[in-house]
Amino acid sequence: MSAVIIDGFEIARQVREDVAKKTAELKAKGITPCLAVVLVGEDPASVSYVTGKEKALLEVGMSDRSIRLNEKTTEKELLDVIHTLNTDTSVHGILVQLPLPKHIDEAKVLLAIKPEKDVDGFHPISVGNMLIGRKSFLPCTPHGVLVLLKTMGIQTSGAHAVVVGRSNIVGKPVAVLLARKECNATVTICHTGTKDLPSMTKQADILIAAAGKPGTITADMVKEGAVVIDVGVNRIPDSSKKSGFRLVGDVDFDAVKEKASFITPVPRGVGPMTIAMLMQNTLEAAECSL
Ligand code: NAP
Repeated sequence: MSAVIIDGFEIARQVREDVAKKTAELKAKGITPCLAVVLVGEDPASVSYVTGKEKALLEVGMSDRSIRLNEKTTEKELLDVIHTLNTDTSVHGILVQLPLPKHIDEAKVLLAIKPEKDVDGFHPISVGNMLIGRKSFLPCTPHGVLVLLKTMGIQTSGAHAVVVGRSNIVGKPVAVLLARKECNATVTICHTGTKDLPSMTKQADILIAAAGKPGTITADMVKEGAVVIDVGVNRIPDSSKKSGFRLVGDVDFDAVKEKASFITPVPRGVGPMTIAMLMQNTLEAAECSL
């Protein structure tokens, strides 16, 4: 059996199309959703993520407030920028691209963003609300994973979901969302302290790989017919590419697709969903200002 390849690019396009339609309606009422994208430094991966987000904003008809700060920006200067954006009523969402340079305390910066503008869903208030099932901005990548599962008609209720990774931006929130009553999955979280990873992953009806390491999930670690969602985005040197690298996930795609029932590719799987959900959160933030 060969798995159905989940076309994250197409599903994200549909989400963006819907967002674009609603954005046009909002603009007719005099509100143009605006996202401030703050980038500190010039890390190539971050620059590429930020450029992708800005391009997507313009495509759905929103406006972007691009703020580029140099690597030496102090924590105080960054916090001042955030305070200004917090009080600017024409800005509906604020995104600070992570990671930040080492001399800046990331937690302090995320805490400074007004929760009403926290479209990344990383503020502790957003995280807390997500945990207790109250309305909040959901973090984009985990939310994107849920939308992929739902769109493909994959049953989560009663399923055993195994999440490999426990970061605050992917592993933990995706586990929480899957365990909420709406999804109703039974969730296991794995990490580097997990004693026998294959024995865990082999139990998964839905396997979410978010380890950030190529080859973490091989075919012998996957149950026949499992749904495999690969969140990993890893750069592998490749001299045949103009960029000098290619992107791979955490899953051994070619072998695992022969065992799984559904699988996401990398690229064009979870990645495009992250941006689409960011657009959706920005739209919601702007709608709240009506
Ligand atoms: P991270 O902060 O580095 O967290 C990785 C997690 O995986 C950690 O909890 C780590 O465990 C666990 N882990 C690593 N190797 C493992 C192994 N061999 N066995 C079991 N657990 C292992 O990474 P992240 O920010 O969550 O991102 C994960 C991946 O997703 C990265 O490739 C990132 O680029 C990608 N990502 C993609 C998107 C997207 O839009 N597609 C968005 C965000 C992130 P410990 O906690 O024990 O260290």
